[in-house]
Amino acid sequence: MFRPLGDPTVHDYLRVAVSLRLRNLFDYRCAPFLTVDVGSRVSIPFGRQSKIGLVVDRVPTTGMPEDKIRDINNVLDEEPVVSPELMSTLKWVSEYYHQSFGEILWTALPMPIRRGQPQQPKLEIGYALTEEGRRLTEESFSRARVQKKIFQELLNSASPVTKERLERSGSSWRNAIQSMETKGWVVSSTVSRVAKRKKPNLIYELTFDQQQALSNIMDSLNRYQCFLLQGVTGSGKTEVYLRAALEVINNGRQVLLLVPEIGLMPQTVERLSDALGIQVFSYHSGMTPADRHRTWWFAKSGQAKVIAGTRSAALLSFQDLGLIVIDEEHDSSFKQQERARYHARTVALYRAMKCNIPIVLGSATPSLETIWAASNNRLTTMTLPHRATRVAMPKVRVLDLNEVYLKEGVAMPLINAIQKRIDDREQSLIFLNRRGFAPVVVCGDCKWVAKCDNCDVKMILHKADNRLHCHLCGAKRPICEICEECGSERMHNLGEGTERIESVLHETFPGARIMRIDSDATRGFRDIEQKLTRIQNGEADILVGTQMLSKGHHFPFVTLVGILNADQGFFSIDFRAMEYVFQQVLQVAGRAGRVEKPGEVIIQTLNPDSEYFERIRSHDYMGFAKDELAHRKQANQPPYAYYALLRANSPKQESVIEFLNDAKRIGEGLLLGRAYPSVDLMDVVMSPISRIARRARAQLLATSTRNDEIKPFLSSWVEILEKHPRKGKLRWNLDVDPIDFH
Ligand code: ADP
Ligand code: ZN
Ligand code: ZN
Repeated sequence: MFRPLGDPTVHDYLRVAVSLRLRNLFDYRCAPFLTVDVGSRVSIPFGRQSKIGLVVDRVPTTGMPEDKIRDINNVLDEEPVVSPELMSTLKWVSEYYHQSFGEILWTALPMPIRRGQPQQPKLEIGYALTEEGRRLTEESFSRARVQKKIFQELLNSASPVTKERLERSGSSWRNAIQSMETKGWVVSSTVSRVAKRKKPNLIYELTFDQQQALSNIMDSLNRYQCFLLQGVTGSGKTEVYLRAALEVINNGRQVLLLVPEIGLMPQTVERLSDALGIQVFSYHSGMTPADRHRTWWFAKSGQAKVIAGTRSAALLSFQDLGLIVIDEEHDSSFKQQERARYHARTVALYRAMKCNIPIVLGSATPSLETIWAASNNRLTTMTLPHRATRVAMPKVRVLDLNEVYLKEGVAMPLINAIQKRIDDREQSLIFLNRRGFAPVVVCGDCKWVAKCDNCDVKMILHKADNRLHCHLCGAKRPICEICEECGSERMHNLGEGTERIESVLHETFPGARIMRIDSDATRGFRDIEQKLTRIQNGEADILVGTQMLSKGHHFPFVTLVGILNADQGFFSIDFRAMEYVFQQVLQVAGRAGRVEKPGEVIIQTLNPDSEYFERIRSHDYMGFAKDELAHRKQANQPPYAYYALLRANSPKQESVIEFLNDAKRIGEGLLLGRAYPSVDLMDVVMSPISRIARRARAQLLATSTRNDEIKPFLSSWVEILEKHPRKGKLRWNLDVDPIDFH
């Protein structure tokens, strides 16, 4: 735009995202002599406060009246915090998911950056042994367990050791190191840069299939190409990612690896850094804001060559991204379910396309969306049909619960199989997707069931504190000794959770070492890491756990896997339930017999004759996927249709229903114009869990066979709904591509 020099009346306007919670963007005036790049932070007056805003656009005109518009205070960044590439990706994300652009933008930034701290984080502190410290031996620390661990760590390290590695020594590492410093055994110093590279350590000769997969990726290192690497558990997918990553970092570019769970991070980081000889940066919600800030900065400035993280890492800034890998791509935890809703796989695919780089989706049990995309030639499939270690796939046995004797939920044949593993000094893994002791507390006389006062769910008995817990709102209350309905004392605890199975196994195998892994029994990802290490060292005979145990972990001594309730999928209203259960069962089964001995899997079910179990017995995931896709096509469900779910909740049920009925009328009004003939609106229904935390919940589903019709329809719809008056503390949100209907 032509701008006469020195004319103070001509201004550009800055469009600014102000905070996570504000949907709207705000316009500010910017003196023409100020250089402000899009993507930079500015300090702005906001009401009576001053706030930090992020510039999303520079516009020549504004709809605001001239006397209302205010000047920015100052500019915080010389260089944008959000690069143009990321800015356009996030814009696309906000449009695809119909989420607030500001919210997505702020979500992509670590807390210190949102608070206005300088982009470059403070230097890290590293610790090393002094000369005196070096003269000590392990015996010097007889009782100080944590100090001894720190001593070993420092002794074995050539360079100063930072917090990240010291944390593994125990939760009191800070006190320990302080007292070692006071004694003059340890010195601290600031560590400036990324650790030096070591020689890569890739020992295996790739199998033919691995080699094929790798050369496919190598052939398209400098262009967009999506690969599906489908390989049974233990087939060596990770080896393929590692070689591809090595090539990319040798070319000076960056690699992003996404994993579904925080629990998988420590082992992933360790394996990557060992193999690639390079410092690997993690990014996930279990880290402190300062640590997230560090990774964010090193990724943005290009010093971090390998970044491993959970879904939020898909929103990081990169200097020169060269490859994206999504491991266990089928996993539903890649979908962010609250606030800025997005699917990390969808975002990553878009970014790979934008950056013109390859992306590899790896899984033993790919999502049906991915299989469908492959069948339409939108991506290249590579298969690793055999285990790299040549160990056979586990044998699957299906037990008919109608026919076998059950000892509190565990069938006799499974008990016998566990006994055999104990005798042979091998491990058993018992999987059950339900924590707590008993999921139903019911009166033997009138059948009254203990339910949560705030939510529409049953309360679950936990023996650890002898109370009833609500797994949705966290409410707890004393155990019911007598029925609240009829006063009867014949209260029964029905069903089994992990706590109960643990105690049954304790009774059955008195000498056995049993370890339970679920969210009640573990505190944070370091705790999970320690437990996993103990399992891998053979310090347990039986593992009992929820899906925390089933994902991607490597348990060399596990040769038996027991699955106690594989039937949940049969009763779910969710159209993806069978897919999830199949994936989960095959994933858990994949934990069995990964190293030397072939494993055995025992599944307990009430429906042993289902064709479904036949498929599991023969590890025939693709057969299942084909049938399921045919079924989805017939029923017009994703991936053959696009879904968007409008959810609403409020303390008052009437306001929820009223709002959604209004929304439906508004939507139908838009559809009258026939601009979107493929779009359909279903009826307003209460959500399957109709109340959570004292709020009534209901929903309305919009479907379409065409993305190019539902997308503009949703935009217009949301725009009107946003102006709709909200009665009775109503909240609503739109979930595009919902992954469940809870
Ligand atoms: P996945 O990621 O498919 O589950 P991994 O890459 O973890 O499989 O490999 C499973 C096991 O096989 C690991 O212990 C790994 O070290 C080993 N492995 C992988 N590739 C080879 C190979 N080419 N030769 C021998 N062993 C291999
Ligand atoms: Zn009763
Ligand atoms: Zn509750």
